[in-house]
Amino acid sequence: MSEHKFEIWFVTGSQNLYGDETLRQVAEQSQLVTDQLAKGLSADVALVWKPVVKTNDEIRATLMAATASDACVGVITWMHTFSPAKMWINGLEVLNKPLLHLHTQAGQSLPWATIDMDFMNLNQAAHGDREYAHILSRMDVARKVVVGHPTDSRVQQEVDAWAFATLGWQKSQHLKLARFGDNMRYVAVTDGDKVSAQMTFGMSIEQLGVNTLVDAVNAVSDADAEKLCLTYGELYELAPELKPSGARRDSLVYGAKIEIALRGILETGGYSAFTSNFEDLGALRQLPGLAVQRLMADGYGFGGEGDWKTSALLAIMKAMTPVNGGTSFMEDYTYHFGPGTPKVLGAHMLEVCPSISGQKPRIEIHPLGIGGKEDPVRMVFTAKPASGRVVCLTDLGGRFRMISNEIKIVEPTQDLPNLPVARAVWEPAPSLEVSAEAWMLAGGSHHTVLTNSVSDATIQDFARIAGVELVNIDHSTTSVSIRKELQWSSAYYRLASKF
Ligand code: MN
Repeated sequence: MSEHKFEIWFVTGSQNLYGDETLRQVAEQSQLVTDQLAKGLSADVALVWKPVVKTNDEIRATLMAATASDACVGVITWMHTFSPAKMWINGLEVLNKPLLHLHTQAGQSLPWATIDMDFMNLNQAAHGDREYAHILSRMDVARKVVVGHPTDSRVQQEVDAWAFATLGWQKSQHLKLARFGDNMRYVAVTDGDKVSAQMTFGMSIEQLGVNTLVDAVNAVSDADAEKLCLTYGELYELAPELKPSGARRDSLVYGAKIEIALRGILETGGYSAFTSNFEDLGALRQLPGLAVQRLMADGYGFGGEGDWKTSALLAIMKAMTPVNGGTSFMEDYTYHFGPGTPKVLGAHMLEVCPSISGQKPRIEIHPLGIGGKEDPVRMVFTAKPASGRVVCLTDLGGRFRMISNEIKIVEPTQDLPNLPVARAVWEPAPSLEVSAEAWMLAGGSHHTVLTNSVSDATIQDFARIAGVELVNIDHSTTSVSIRKELQWSSAYYRLASKF
């Protein structure tokens, strides 16, 4: 048994024309290629070699099995030898897993002095893969193409980036999201078409009354909540008033009850993402802050003000985050236009994930200006410096669009002693002015997912798998280029639309 929950299948194509002896060598070499490639994978998946496919029926059976397998999250194909591509049509018709076409060959270097037809026969992907790629293009099959030898670290990194994307897609396909309340009244960008979201991403967006949460909070015992507060004391720094004998310990205990109740509802219901809305808290005494932060740190998606799209995107990007990486719900809050390099101060009312923190978070209690509830407990920290990106998912009415902006998370220019929330400070590429112009022209949201570790390549691969437009804002973006890109892609999606 593999130690991984998910698998990527490695499928090698050939045909019976070559005879048993050659096909035995094909099998050996493709197992070696699989092993070499697996050495470069850091994503939490097993690369599983499958027997060489040589006929229409074998190909169809293998790709049907990949489609039917809950463990299989993606398929890599390679035409070691010439595998006439008409044999692939029926199989490709039934494949619904992400596809990567590895264009490689077993021999890295050409043995100039000794090369003969035997070597040529065992190293003919140069034309075999082109025959196969022709039918992929003709059938309009979305795929990533990676070219090179499997021992090349660039090849391994490209496959690894895609492997992370397949994990995001797996998460998306099975995502159940609990909305506590609707989205914030009058707000446009947090709304959207939940039916289209399920058709595009597989995610199920479900409504739960806030009373479900209120009842669950009231059912948590003081003893259980106190026990969790002791854990808080071990993991985080506590403000003096929240310590065991502190004047406001009760507020921390209530915060712990919210966490226990929320976690229970999510686990019982099989939900991996959720939303809250400070306008609709029912009889909850505090806006959930600390609980949301702790659940995000455990991989749950979250969006404030009922923002289910950002919550779902966060859960997906958590699934694509490498071990020890950080990914959080975020909001563009306030600008620093200068002096110095212009910066964005990102934060939220409370809900920023400690996975991006550079220090031990401190739990504090402060008033919240809106919502009319008791003061909520929250973790306060500053995001550690790193390169990263902010990503959003918007609903344009007829389709979805993802936007990704390359950023550099930096230390705040000065301390922020009066800011009672967790925060991140960053410099967006190519500059604040071009980034913000491009983001707003593309219709991007103020809520985002900030990551210091999900790669640009993984986000591109995910968008391609989902069949969703991705607007990338990076060092090469200009005011002119972004307008042209948006115009072209608008035309493209009208022409390419399947509606
Ligand atoms: Mn917000």
